[in-house]
Amino acid sequence: MSYAIPAVEPATVGIAGREERFPVRRIYTIGRNYAAHAAETGLGGAGGSKPGVSLKPADSVIPDGASLPFPPGTNRLEPEVEMVAAIGKGGADIPREAALDHVFGYAVGFDMIRRDIMHACIADQHSWDLCKSFDGASPMSDLAPAAEIGHLGNGAVTLTINGVERQRGDLSDLIWPVAEIVARLSALSRLEPGDLIFTGTPKGPGRVERGDRLIGEIEGIGSLTIDIV
Ligand code: MN
Repeated sequence: MSYAIPAVEPATVGIAGREERFPVRRIYTIGRNYAAHAAETGLGGAGGSKPGVSLKPADSVIPDGASLPFPPGTNRLEPEVEMVAAIGKGGADIPREAALDHVFGYAVGFDMIRRDIMHACIADQHSWDLCKSFDGASPMSDLAPAAEIGHLGNGAVTLTINGVERQRGDLSDLIWPVAEIVARLSALSRLEPGDLIFTGTPKGPGRVERGDRLIGEIEGIGSLTIDIV
């Protein structure tokens, strides 16, 4: 194989306790998956009849401990702390009962959003891709392999900004748990190894500024620290 232009290496995520890295193929994000957050968005209901899904660029991942330059075009940058499920085995029309067999592991992620761009796009009935598509928009901790931690049905999910708690929820509150999301997504397009799924955020996301330190933690998975610069 020869390429007409330089081929870009895949973005990768670390794996706790291993030298090998996890190559990223696609990033799916699930919206309004905690009822308390769904209610506060004003966008409707306890998540609606099906999960909201949007995609982010694979190369927007940045690691634990990174500095995130405040992105252009926004005055309202908001992190959403989320459990990330990483797909290790592909499939289409994956049954819910077998879905967790396709998950390689889990991480703590921030779904970073330019909220003002999101709201303007909704008002204009434009796609809101640009609110989630900028360099560094998807900070993630190293993956904790499911072979080691299992598949968590509960556990506290928290975000602190400069030491002050901003978000708190529990994995047991997910309207659509991971198995359900994998089943539904794989019915719409085949999932492949390297796909990441940000599973939604608890209530309370709000704006951050340059100089802020963000720490996300999920009980049983790990933590993620990012500085906004
Ligand atoms: Mn989100």
